[in-house]
Amino acid sequence: MTHIAFIGLGNMGGGMAANQAKAQHQVSAFDLSAAALERAVAAGCHAAGSVAEAVKDAQVVITMLPAGPHVRSVYGEQVLAHAPKSALLIDCSTIDVESARAVAGLAKAAGFRFADAPVSGGVMAAEAGTLAFMVGCDAADFAAVEAALAPMSRATIHAGDHGAGQAAKICNNMLLGISMLGTCEAFALAEKLGLAADRFFEIASQSSGQCWSVSTYCPVPGVGPSTPADRNYEGGFAAAMMLKDLKLAQDAAAKAGASTPMGAQAEALYALFDGNGFGGKDFSAVLQLLRGKVASLN
Ligand code: NAD
Repeated sequence: MTHIAFIGLGNMGGGMAANQAKAQHQVSAFDLSAAALERAVAAGCHAAGSVAEAVKDAQVVITMLPAGPHVRSVYGEQVLAHAPKSALLIDCSTIDVESARAVAGLAKAAGFRFADAPVSGGVMAAEAGTLAFMVGCDAADFAAVEAALAPMSRATIHAGDHGAGQAAKICNNMLLGISMLGTCEAFALAEKLGLAADRFFEIASQSSGQCWSVSTYCPVPGVGPSTPADRNYEGGFAAAMMLKDLKLAQDAAAKAGASTPMGAQAEALYALFDGNGFGGKDFSAVLQLLRGKVASLN
């Protein structure tokens, strides 16, 4: 049994902390939201009154927070001051590469082992313990990180040094945003050309246009495997979350001097969709924007 401190028990962290408790670990949980904390206690975690109290005797600290500023503040102001130096620190939030490297630097300087380990997979995978983790950490620490993440994971991959996990996450999600928009454009054009969506699905999913957005997550209702499109785009991966990741990718590209014109277009289209009030819909709902039918989403 490992003593784990789990900070951030929202949509993702709630299910992840529950899986650590289910694996018989002692989980000291904390969230600013009393409701989130109550749900974690119902799932077998112990409530802590603060970050400091949660991490005080922890062997592993796991955080699942909204964005870079939250991670900088929770580690910089609380975790590093109160956790034992022997604790393994793992941040699973999706944040900017710069913040991940800055926090890793602070942690290392204070004598801690630290990993950025963002996830692929949504709330259902968090609950099922089937997330994929992409990890940035010292090579010597990877085995310990992998073991600590095991109750929440179906795959854990070492991406490289500190920040590499976040780099992998934003590059993957930029590719996903672009491929979903390409898929939606192709289905919208097929419709205008009088081609039935189910016929185009069958053809594209076996031709060179094939990709995950076509074959596994088809944005057209009633076509292909069951997806959020079949539930008026409820659940799944929110467009606002995709926009967050596309912004992170554009910020990183600007800082690194990388050319990402398709990523920039994807960010602009998701910003337009979000600005129209559809940020809570699944990211595949952008099909209805391209079809000129956003009203159908209300
Ligand atoms: P969420 O908003 O539901 O949860 C975040 C939790 O952090 C909230 O409960 C909030 O109260 C808590 N929190 C914020 N500041 C805190 C602090 N200082 N101390 C303690 N708790 C604090 O968000 P989420 O959907 O669980 O996402 C978490 C992270 O995972 C994000 O970085 C997101 O981009 C990433 N992610 C989300 C999904 C998804 O499908 N939801 C998928 C992959 C990755």
